Amino acid sequence: MDTLLKGTPVRLSDRVLRVTQDNPGMFTGPGTNTWVIGGDDGPAFVLDPGEEDDAHFEAVLAAVGDREVAAVLISHTHRDHWPLAPRLAEHAGCQIFAFSEQPPFTAGRRLEDNERLFADGATLVALHTPGHASDHLCFLLEEERAVFTADLVMGWSTSIIAPPDGNLNQYMASLERLLELGQDGGIDILHPGHGESIKPPLDRIREIRSHRQQRTDQALEAIAAGVATIPEMVERIYADIDPKLHGPAAFSLRAHLDALVEEGKVVEDQPGRYERAV
Ligand SMILES: [Zn+2]
Repeated sequence: MDTLLKGTPVRLSDRVLRVTQDNPGMFTGPGTNTWVIGGDDGPAFVLDPGEEDDAHFEAVLAAVGDREVAAVLISHTHRDHWPLAPRLAEHAGCQIFAFSEQPPFTAGRRLEDNERLFADGATLVALHTPGHASDHLCFLLEEERAVFTADLVMGWSTSIIAPPDGNLNQYMASLERLLELGQDGGIDILHPGHGESIKPPLDRIREIRSHRQQRTDQALEAIAAGVATIPEMVERIYADIDPKLHGPAAFSLRAHLDALVEEGKVVEDQPGRYERAV
């Protein structure tokens, strides 16, 4: 059962409020998590305001309360994360910060990797973590050793990696970056873009990493056995899942094959036909 309360601010710590949007779906799980980050006296940050929707707009304003909004932050430019941002920024009289712009999304200011942002009692560090999307950012809340992971690590499912903007090798490197940051207690908790917060954090990251590695190994084994095309590999690797999911599975497998081609382990000798590199 989904325990995320939709449309009502939920306090997770002194500095963190979560408002889950009522937009459940195949890519959003229970819905998009919007985060209000900062102390009681404000100003506060709003991260990922979500999709354009009156009820969610009101819920986010309720979570902000009397505080000023320091900036609206966007984790990445997929449409379940940002469309409410312009309205919120205009209402609050603040800017939108993001790593990049993708029409029709425009940022007021572009964030750099490792850039530090300050609000009332909250220091956020922007971490460029591409893979799910090339412009993906996580944010570390230093005071709580909490990482807002958006769609890099989610609470409900593994992330979709859709080439060409999504890239599996980059995704794996981003997971490693979080694991390094989390060594010696550097991270206490993960607050994902979809689903419940994750604690302890590192086991989940390692689990996602090994799941991906396993899929990569299966793709290599299939190719070694002479299975050359994505539809044939899906039949083999995903034999035990509902055929309705074979479409998304093919998409995901494509990301694995692109990664193997990028690493020089596999070649696409004819369009759509893969074999081992010699
Ligand atoms: Zn998302």
